[in-house]
Amino acid sequence: MKIGIMGGTFDPIHIGHLVAAETVREGLGLDEVWFMPSHIPPHKAEAGFSGEERMHMVELAIGTQPAFRTLDIELRRGGVSYTVDTMSELAGKYPDARFHFIIGTDMVNYLPKWERIEELAGLTRFAAVGRAGYELDKEHLPAAVAEVIDYFDMPQLELSSTEIRGRLKKGRSTRYLVPEKVHDYLQRSGSHAAYAGTTD
Ligand code: ATP
Repeated sequence: MKIGIMGGTFDPIHIGHLVAAETVREGLGLDEVWFMPSHIPPHKAEAGFSGEERMHMVELAIGTQPAFRTLDIELRRGGVSYTVDTMSELAGKYPDARFHFIIGTDMVNYLPKWERIEELAGLTRFAAVGRAGYELDKEHLPAAVAEVIDYFDMPQLELSSTEIRGRLKKGRSTRYLVPEKVHDYLQRSGSHAAYAGTTD
């Protein structure tokens, strides 16, 4: 099995995440992509929406795409979500699977700062998708990391969860920037959680 892991805070999920996952699924011929909300992201402020809310919106977003699934391993483990802990747990649980961790090119620049990055590079390949404003730059990466990165072009969507939360705060529309069911959920649940976020 070739599995893509779409990790993120998903605070909230938006179409940039979905297009990234679909691009890599198609590009690598993945059997499945597992969307995995983090509990506490290592390099960011804590999420504004609760883990339960973020997971619920991910479920609404992936809908009926049969290759897309959710993974609650980091929410269940709690604490700071280090990818190396997660991937080593997954490697033990699914010894026959080959993993591809999906990241935007903005994150590639941060890889050297990730916890035990060289150990992580032995547990998964990375699938980097082009994110507006961030060129893929492998120069500054340790060789062991650079050689496990595959790159995929995707239609550039200059969109972030920060942008969505900003719109919710101002009462501006998020329609079509998030899947319809997520939009309806955000309307129903109010934008209360967006105010708790501190990353914008
Ligand atoms: P925030 O604005 O809160 O920092 P974000 O939109 O960057 O959030 P995350 O949940 O942190 O979303 O992102 C998860 C993964 O998805 C990261 O690897 C990120 O690079 C990637 N990603 C997010 N938005 C896009 C986008 N518009 N295009 C390509 N990749 C994206």
